[in-house]
Amino acid sequence: MRVLVVGGAGYIGSHMVKMLLGAGHEVVTLDNLSSGHRDAVLGGTFIEGDLADIDCLNKVFEQHQPEAVMHFASYIQVGESVRKPDIYYRNNVTNTLNLLEVMLKFEVKKFIFSSTAAVFGEPDYVPIDEAHPTRPLNPYGRSKWMIEQVLSDYDTAFDLRSVCLRYFNAAGADPEGQLGERHDPETHLIPLILQAASGRREHIQVFGRDYDTPDGTCIRDYIHIVDLCSAHLAALEYLNQDGSSDRFNLGNGSGFSVQQVIDAVQKVSGKQVSVINGPRREGDPARLVADATRAKKILSWQPNFTELETIVSHAWQWELKQLR
Ligand code: UDP
Repeated sequence: MRVLVVGGAGYIGSHMVKMLLGAGHEVVTLDNLSSGHRDAVLGGTFIEGDLADIDCLNKVFEQHQPEAVMHFASYIQVGESVRKPDIYYRNNVTNTLNLLEVMLKFEVKKFIFSSTAAVFGEPDYVPIDEAHPTRPLNPYGRSKWMIEQVLSDYDTAFDLRSVCLRYFNAAGADPEGQLGERHDPETHLIPLILQAASGRREHIQVFGRDYDTPDGTCIRDYIHIVDLCSAHLAALEYLNQDGSSDRFNLGNGSGFSVQQVIDAVQKVSGKQVSVINGPRREGDPARLVADATRAKKILSWQPNFTELETIVSHAWQWELKQLR
């Protein structure tokens, strides 16, 4: 298929472009390079452009005639979204509406949307399935939940079929070492610990040790980036075979605590990490774990890299490359 990957120069998007190319699809990447990296797009056509620019979008669709769109381009920092809700709603909501408008104009009606576990807010129970109530706690989560609702209405009114994938904690790196996480500033746990192990950072701060969990630190569901991308590939296939619009939670189904992640990094890297115990970070639930049963069943998807050490070792391989 001809697939337009919006945000294909970012962490998840770049791994997706690589996987789509490997599966024989034709890929066009559109990215404004606000946080992505041109050299992370390993093939296909690259266009530097912004979703705010409708003329640019019209040209991309006219020239490349995509048959499906995957949308990875959004702002992702929870704390920043609280301080700057305007830019989060503009980029994550308004710009997505632009994209959908142009898709409808060109009659492109298959859409895969990067959503988030943040649509659930503080969980009533874990693991979290799709029936769990959605109560996002911040503008980031709300922006994603808004688009999920827009997509439901666009399906009803315009027959635009979509799959919303709610990511838990995307982690790891390309097992072949070509791609990895390069956020600036980096806020995610695994790369921060790896940077502390490699010497790029002095220490890691643990946000709270007084949670109601076995070791007192927060538990999250870290899903390998390749497994995340293979779920998108499965979703593409699903839409292509006339699957109806749906939403799926994506995680590997087992939770790991912050301390377990630190231990795994120390084991994999053979380095000691300097740890500072800090206060809780506002809005952090104690435990977030996905129930991905529906994705497994309906998309026939299966995560392959579920061991924490595998996830960490691929990310460590990438971190070592950054030092050169
Ligand atoms: N965390 C931490 N120190 C850091 C960054 C994160 O202790 O410097 C914790 C955070 O409180 C959460 C987990 O690590 O429990 C994962 O955080 P991250 O920001 O990577 O992802 P999130 O779960 O917020 O999407």
